Amino acid sequence: MHFSRWIWGLVLISLSVVIRAEPFVIGEAQAAQSLTEHLRILADEQGTLDFQGVRTAKSQQRLKPLDRQGANFGFSNAAYWVAFSLQNPTAKPVGLVIRQDYPLIDQLDFWHPAPEGGWTHIATGDRRPFQSRPLNLRDFVFPVTLPANTTQTYYLRYQTAGSMNIGLSVSSKTAFLPQLGKEQILLGIYYGGFLVLVIYNLFLFLAVRDRAYAYYMGYAISYGLYFGVHNGVSFQYLWPGSPWLANQSLVILLGFTLIFGIQFVRTVCSGPRLAPRIDRVARLFLYVLLPLTAIAPFVSYGPMILTLAILTLLLSILFMVMGVISLLQGSVPARYFLVGWTALLVSVVIYMLKTFGLVPHNSFTHNAFQVGALVEMVLLSLALGARVGELQRRGYIDELTGLFNRRYFDEQLPREFGLAKRNGTPLALLILDLDHFKTINDCLGHASGDTALRAVGQLIKRQVRKPVIACRYGGEEFAVLLPRTSIEAAQTVAERLVREVAQAGFDGVPLTISIGVASSENSRIGAAVQLFESADKALYQAKADGRNRVVVGNLAETAVKGIAQKGVAQRGQQQHKDEVELA
Ligand code: GH3
Ligand code: MG
Ligand code: MG
Repeated sequence: MHFSRWIWGLVLISLSVVIRAEPFVIGEAQAAQSLTEHLRILADEQGTLDFQGVRTAKSQQRLKPLDRQGANFGFSNAAYWVAFSLQNPTAKPVGLVIRQDYPLIDQLDFWHPAPEGGWTHIATGDRRPFQSRPLNLRDFVFPVTLPANTTQTYYLRYQTAGSMNIGLSVSSKTAFLPQLGKEQILLGIYYGGFLVLVIYNLFLFLAVRDRAYAYYMGYAISYGLYFGVHNGVSFQYLWPGSPWLANQSLVILLGFTLIFGIQFVRTVCSGPRLAPRIDRVARLFLYVLLPLTAIAPFVSYGPMILTLAILTLLLSILFMVMGVISLLQGSVPARYFLVGWTALLVSVVIYMLKTFGLVPHNSFTHNAFQVGALVEMVLLSLALGARVGELQRRGYIDELTGLFNRRYFDEQLPREFGLAKRNGTPLALLILDLDHFKTINDCLGHASGDTALRAVGQLIKRQVRKPVIACRYGGEEFAVLLPRTSIEAAQTVAERLVREVAQAGFDGVPLTISIGVASSENSRIGAAVQLFESADKALYQAKADGRNRVVVGNLAETAVKGIAQKGVAQRGQQQHKDEVELA
């Protein structure tokens, strides 16, 4: 980011580098070559020099080679004059392009020798309309022709309220065009990725109506456009007629990115619920950022981008803390969020190391930041998916016992029943009811009753493993679905439960359960509802027989039959179909 370049400058100023400022000798089909080592630079603090002034002998002496490795000067009010010479040793004139690769320079003036003598002046920069560029490209690209056996000097003047990044390179036209094609494809893939994520999550938003998706889209759009401004493509394609927007858009978009980012992280990490104190801090940031972004279009760029950069840094830390806290609270979306956020931070670190010169400058390190941001967006989208899954699961969980709730049971029973019938595997069902529970409530109070229910829930949970589904069906009733379990095995499980509950007791007070067992193996059971009724009937029998025991539905065959027939009458057509299939 911007301020990294400042630090960069400070560090590298102390490093001594071998300096040349000799003319650069152009090769045949010259591939893109940085001119940084060949530049001579004059910082015009008052910004009063003009081209004639720079060409005087006195000014020429002040044009000095760089005493550092890069030509980035951070935020500066000075105008920077840059001169360099190119030499064509061949007997043929060569078509060249001179490229300034950082597209956010306010005013950029370029002078090259005109073929008919004198100088040609091109005045461009992003404070001037996009058409001021000689070529319709996102960077500043100046085509020149260098005659045979000649050395020529070129001049540029940089003035900008933002970061003074002088990134000049030269290449032959023949090498530049294929290079440009490659870059365009990569940019297309990059922004295409953002676009796909936005559209994909838009559809999910329309389907799910979870506001986290809206925040995500806001975040992705502002972040994508922010990179677009950085790369110069937003100015080129979105608002070529508005130099004002080209400049102010960066701070506005950064503001929006942070605002949507905060809201997204708060929602996806369930901030208010899982980390209320940190969430309040995040909200405080929001209150600072909202007015700041609102005035962003009207205040000067320099102080604004600096403030936002500091806020970005603080927020990165805050987001990390929020993610870790909600991860520790068991949030699944927080896992994806943390991986994504780490990917982004790692990429920023790589980018910084490159800027400090600690890792080599190549296309990976140079683009790490942007690639990291896209990877982050993908993972945040996964976090959204996990969030929906979690919300759904939460709707299926009984708050008191942590077992599944009735809603889940009602959905799973017909599903499992259908599966069992189709696969020809047995499905067993236990219905449990606490004995004389009203007495426990009456003697010990409702709160103790709740604790007893929770204890029984825990005990059941310990006994079951996937694919067994244990639910609290209602009040003090539980249901346990046992797929692929024979009636004998189910009976064994039920008897163990009865025994363990009786042994455990509760706070010295005797506590017992009765269980009714039914199985789809019983040929008279043709529908899920009949399985349930059979187990319920068996439970009723267990209560009648004196409680604290298991009764298996099979043994109460006649009673089951009666209920089954009643079920058919009540449930009509669908039920009838099941019966026919069975017959
Ligand atoms: P039995 O089943 O053995 O016939 O006797 P019971 O006393 O358990 O019978 P009943 O089903 O009539 O009473 C169930 C009681 O469970 C009624 C209600 O006070 C209590 N109960 C239901 N839900 C809860 C709950 O969530 N918490 C507490 N503490 N009690 C509950
Ligand atoms: Mg009871
Ligand atoms: Mg009951």
